[in-house]
Amino acid sequence: MRVKYLLIGAGISNLTFANYAKEDYLIVEKDNKVGGYCRTTERNGFVWDYAGHFFHFKTEEFKKKFLDKVPKDEIVTQDKCTKILYDKNLLIDYPFQTNIHQLEKEEFIDCLYDLFNKEEKEKYDSFLEMLYGKFGKSITEKFLKPYNEKLYAIDLRKLDEDAMGRFFPYADKEQIINNMRNSKDISYNNSFLYPKHGAETFIKILHDNLDEKNIMLNTKIVSIDLKNKIATTDKGDNIEYEYLVNSSPLNQFLELFDNQELHSLKDELSYNQVLVFNLGFDKKSKLQKEHWMYIPSKECNYYRIGFYDNILSADKLSMYIEIGYDKDTVITEEEIEKQLKLTLENLEKQEIIDKDMKLIDHESIIMSPAYVHIENNTDKKVRETFEKLSEDNIYSIGRYGAWTYCSMEDCMLQAKELFEKISQK
Ligand SMILES: Cc1cc2nc3c(=O)[nH]c(=O)nc-3n(C[C@H](O)[C@H](O)[C@H](O)COP(=O)(O)OP(=O)(O)OC[C@H]3O[C@@H](n4cnc5c(N)ncnc54)[C@H](O)[C@@H]3O)c2cc1C
Repeated sequence: MRVKYLLIGAGISNLTFANYAKEDYLIVEKDNKVGGYCRTTERNGFVWDYAGHFFHFKTEEFKKKFLDKVPKDEIVTQDKCTKILYDKNLLIDYPFQTNIHQLEKEEFIDCLYDLFNKEEKEKYDSFLEMLYGKFGKSITEKFLKPYNEKLYAIDLRKLDEDAMGRFFPYADKEQIINNMRNSKDISYNNSFLYPKHGAETFIKILHDNLDEKNIMLNTKIVSIDLKNKIATTDKGDNIEYEYLVNSSPLNQFLELFDNQELHSLKDELSYNQVLVFNLGFDKKSKLQKEHWMYIPSKECNYYRIGFYDNILSADKLSMYIEIGYDKDTVITEEEIEKQLKLTLENLEKQEIIDKDMKLIDHESIIMSPAYVHIENNTDKKVRETFEKLSEDNIYSIGRYGAWTYCSMEDCMLQAKELFEKISQK
């Protein structure tokens, strides 16, 4: 078999690429469905994604692409209501750094004092050093450090100062002080769109434009012959390609080549894993307006929880729960059972659920990788490797293919830009 574009993975990145290519492409997907991480479970009246997958469009082009195709009453637009569960009796608006005035007086003074006495630098050696340098000791130690340690499941000194890019809500002293009187959310996603039938709605729009015979499901690419431009599937088929566009996780993709240098880069790549629980209850919680919440306390197993029912105005509590792990932990069935039990106990302790509420349905999903760790030296090697691979018409895109921190829309933009670049060759 011979194709112009061989696309590894049928997530949002390569479905977008195929929409631009229109013909002479083949998508090879190891799962039995398209969508990758952007999939939805709908059952028993609950709508669950792989943890909340919300659209914060920054381009009119992609926003229009979707809004034109989905009936207006099928989409909700929400001004985000997000909180930090600082302790059982204290919810603070997110981001923490601009809402320190909501803390108890003594803690507020500590944060302000440290904010004015921090040692700022032009350049920081790590993400942790950047947090101390920009926000001071108290803001860092009360929220930014414990929360991000739970999320990334790594020593924050190993991460690059810019590891979260535009997703990190930076704020200077003036913004922090001004926010005390005139609250203004400075994070990247002040409002968001969510389809009533989940994020997969958007995948269906991309999928509907494609020809089914150009999508090979339940098939995995297991090796790539770089020089002869041939990829082999787990069924033993050889596919000749002119261009290869990968969206599978880079750590797995590099293993497909018979090349020691690429294998050793693979060993350097670090990331976290996230165990997601989607939980459906028989009643509403007393928290009825929050969309999602951040939990910095290390005594609690989860770092973030979300409320689908509050987003979709549903009458039963429907939640996602996110728990971070390092890349080496094997998340066994026993571990999942243990974490589910702990989660329900913690939700009760935090008075998000009560004894009278029944869990009527649930599922668990392991996202691995979930957040890639951007580390200065490795990131440089990754970019150099992409340069070299492009000489052989091999490209790697998407959050995991390009090994970056990005949104679904960013993945679509990468796909579009790559198609335009290749077309101009
Ligand atoms: C916890 C969490 C929450 C998130 N929330 C949001 C959000 O609210 N908003 C947002 O915009 N983004 C969010 N994201 C990011 C979003 O999930 C990704 O940016 C996006 O889904 C990546 O799409 P992709 O197509 O690049 O990769 P993927 O969706 O990972 O698709 C890659 C595909 O490749 C397939 N594959 C892998 N190996 C092979 C192989 N060897 N052969 C064949 N197929 C293979 C996989 O099965 C998969 O289908 C979130 C991510 C996480 C982890």
